[in-house]
Amino acid sequence: MAKKTTKKKRPRAKPVYHYSVPCSECGGNETSHEVVHEYSQPGYFDGRFISTDYQIVRCLGCRTIRFRKREIQRKLGYPRPIISIYPQPEKSRRKRIETKTLPKEVSKIYKETLATIDAKANTLAALGLRATVEGLCRSKGINEPSLQKKIDGLATAGVLSLVQAEYLHESRYLGNDAAHELKTPKDDELGACLEIIESLLTAIYILPTHSDRLKKRRGLIVATSSNGKKRKAKT
Ligand SMILES: [Zn+2]
Repeated sequence: MAKKTTKKKRPRAKPVYHYSVPCSECGGNETSHEVVHEYSQPGYFDGRFISTDYQIVRCLGCRTIRFRKREIQRKLGYPRPIISIYPQPEKSRRKRIETKTLPKEVSKIYKETLATIDAKANTLAALGLRATVEGLCRSKGINEPSLQKKIDGLATAGVLSLVQAEYLHESRYLGNDAAHELKTPKDDELGACLEIIESLLTAIYILPTHSDRLKKRRGLIVATSSNGKKRKAKT
């Protein structure tokens, strides 16, 4: 009689749960996190069994570990799960300038640069700031061979004052160090350069639109006071 072979049961693989959790190291956006360890604290809520879950989670992008807690609380009369993350993700403290009036390519590289600054990728951020200046020069039709000459060209064309051009050269030095020597700038150096470039972008692209708006409004007020009737301002 053939011997009965008993198939060994494979242990069932534990399901792997992934959660979307904001990660400061990955720029503050939500990234997929795997659960490394979990503990569920049983409890009751309105006579129903519920549990509070305590999880150690790991970002699948940068491998940073953080803590996720899911508990049930009563909000607006309904029991709702409340998710807490520790340490709390740092929100970008930077308020970016308005980008609607920037040329497309300048706006794109400026936003990408901000993302690298938030992700603390300082070397790439310095290169991004340099590229933003390159984009600014190109949008103004300055086609010199080197960035140094392009910035001087902006001053010659009257787009920038000599003082502003001098400021812009400072950001060029930072970009040069990052591009040629892979030198990583410090946070405060990067912050100062970003401020210079943002102030120039504001002066070149944003303030003129505000000024135009004010001029139009002033035109409307003058028209009303001169003949007592409102008429559309000349643009
Ligand atoms: Zn991450």
